[in-house]
Amino acid sequence: MKKISFILFILVSLFLFAWSGHEAFTYYLVQNLPNKDSLVKITEYSYKEDRVYNEEYLVLEDVAGQRKFFEPLCDGKFPPDPSPVDNSLPVWQILTIYSPEPDNGMDEGLNLSPLQSLIGGGSQGVRHMKYKIGPLVAFEGDKSFLYFVDMSKKAFQSGDRYWGYRFLARALHYIEDLSQPYHNAPGLFGEVIWSALNKKMRTILAYAHYFMDDYLVYLLYYSDNAAKEAILGAKPIFFDTYDEYVQNVMKYTLNKFPIVHNEVKRVFGEEGLLQRVTIDKMKTKDEEGEFYLLKAETLSILSYTSSVIKGFLEQFLKEVGEIN
Ligand SMILES: [Zn+2]
Repeated sequence: MKKISFILFILVSLFLFAWSGHEAFTYYLVQNLPNKDSLVKITEYSYKEDRVYNEEYLVLEDVAGQRKFFEPLCDGKFPPDPSPVDNSLPVWQILTIYSPEPDNGMDEGLNLSPLQSLIGGGSQGVRHMKYKIGPLVAFEGDKSFLYFVDMSKKAFQSGDRYWGYRFLARALHYIEDLSQPYHNAPGLFGEVIWSALNKKMRTILAYAHYFMDDYLVYLLYYSDNAAKEAILGAKPIFFDTYDEYVQNVMKYTLNKFPIVHNEVKRVFGEEGLLQRVTIDKMKTKDEEGEFYLLKAETLSILSYTSSVIKGFLEQFLKEVGEIN
């Protein structure tokens, strides 16, 4: 057990993992919100938090109009990010532009676990993932989601709509992250054990993870409209507690892990996963028809996750009085 934890921390420490394309994913998710155009006055941050951050990268001022947190692989124009008017922003924009924010360093370089201090680094992985592999459960992506749901609720209850939506954007980040198969498991159980002894296996698992991070960007920016349609067309589904929303995303995605992982290995082979898969390489594989199964499974995860997140948003925004 200790050994597996050690391997997980090595995997997390070596690479900065991030399911990418949050800004486009969120932009499509919020298009059905009845109050998406409601204007929110920008306010100053005034919170006492139970979380530590990497202060060097934590941004507390408003950065609308600067595309500050956008995925570097995006097309540079989409989604829209206009400058504030009368010191106000619409709901859709706050959620869209701040949902990628947690990948920008605020969770990096922290001491979150005693094991981690042996190895160093990797705190972003701890907060953005939740591994369930064999007997081992590790990390706290689900807790990160619930933490920011709670912070958002506190902000709304104190009448601070701006920070209500900024904290909510962060909550969306973590639940979106958990729809990345590799944020739920690093590899098959045997591979993870083997990776303790074998550096090549560690590299393959890390680049397989990286590939899926970038594959969403590919689907959202460089492919056809299928991902967009899957997100826009998803109908909200509802659960009783906020925890159930995030648990159901994890359950669905973890179930898909073996088929997604096998497809990634089949398409690229071991040699193809010893370095980062570029967008151009993805284009080539796509044109060769290699993604037929991977795309279908990824779209199914996107569609289900979108339904869950839309249900969550509706229930939450009703609870805090933002929609009827
Ligand atoms: Zn993340």
